[in-house]
Amino acid sequence: MVDTVGIIGAGQMGNGIAHISALAGLNVVLTDMTMQQAENGLAVIKGNMERQVGKGKITAADMEAGLKRISLGDSNAAHGDCDLVIEAAVESEEIKKAIFSDLCQHLKPTALVASNTSSISITRLAASTDRADKFMGVHFMNPVPIMKLVELIPGIATSDETFERFNAFTEKLGKTTAVSEDFPAFIVNRILMPMINEGIYTLYEGVGSVEAIDNAMMLGANHPMGPLTLADFIGLDTCLSIMQVLYDGLADSKYRPCPLLVKYVEAGWLGRKTGRGFYDYHGEMPVPTR
Ligand code: NAD
Repeated sequence: MVDTVGIIGAGQMGNGIAHISALAGLNVVLTDMTMQQAENGLAVIKGNMERQVGKGKITAADMEAGLKRISLGDSNAAHGDCDLVIEAAVESEEIKKAIFSDLCQHLKPTALVASNTSSISITRLAASTDRADKFMGVHFMNPVPIMKLVELIPGIATSDETFERFNAFTEKLGKTTAVSEDFPAFIVNRILMPMINEGIYTLYEGVGSVEAIDNAMMLGANHPMGPLTLADFIGLDTCLSIMQVLYDGLADSKYRPCPLLVKYVEAGWLGRKTGRGFYDYHGEMPVPTR
């Protein structure tokens, strides 16, 4: 039985996973590098729950009870009582491995561990834990409270029992699952990210403006948002990391990251989360930056 869920990283994915876990009646321990970052995550959860109350999706009592189930921390030691821990820190193999090797010394022997990685090898991440059989990829989509899918990615050593327990956990959260083999970027990002990268190449080569590219794909391919808006939404650092994992992992030049994406990330223009990416988000409406 999973009663207490630990979440590492209170950014856009971590706070979303904490949000739905708390509303599903689970106790949640949400940690980040500092208490301030964890508190920022909780403030986002509160704002998002208030919006749900406003829309009549949850009651004010659900929100109050949910928020009470979330406790905050600034160290992996806070996860000592968790039955299951999901890591949702930045998309860097080095950082994730350092988190797992520190985390494991604080965990109960029975605790399950997952990564929300968008692209990194689950089998390699599992090797940085002391429990490869109790580890797998559990990939939520952004925004977590709204998107229905969770990709489940067993690594080579993941036990059947671990898979079944994570499957039951995501079912309790009301999600639908798709099972992916452990290959670079799994299913969703293997298909989505080269499309976004090609959208950025289309801008880089001057084929179309930011607005023309986004409108073309929204109105011409029936996508709910254009590729550049979507890239800003995901985070350009995350998009670049995923393209690099595809490029390195599959050794095929078709996955080379667009130089314009690299330049934006080098500039610290990471999309919505930093207020600027392919659009500037400081005004009332997003304005293209090129
Ligand atoms: P984000 O930048 O919004 O949040 C990352 C958080 O991790 C930050 O708050 C940061 O302070 C924290 N962090 C960094 N190092 C840490 C450490 N050592 N210990 C604890 N916390 C640490 O990023 P995000 O968009 O939430 O992405 C998180 C993960 O989820 C990544 O692996 C990403 O690939 C994956 N993911 C992202 C999306 C998306 O659309 N953004 C979708 C699915 C999965």
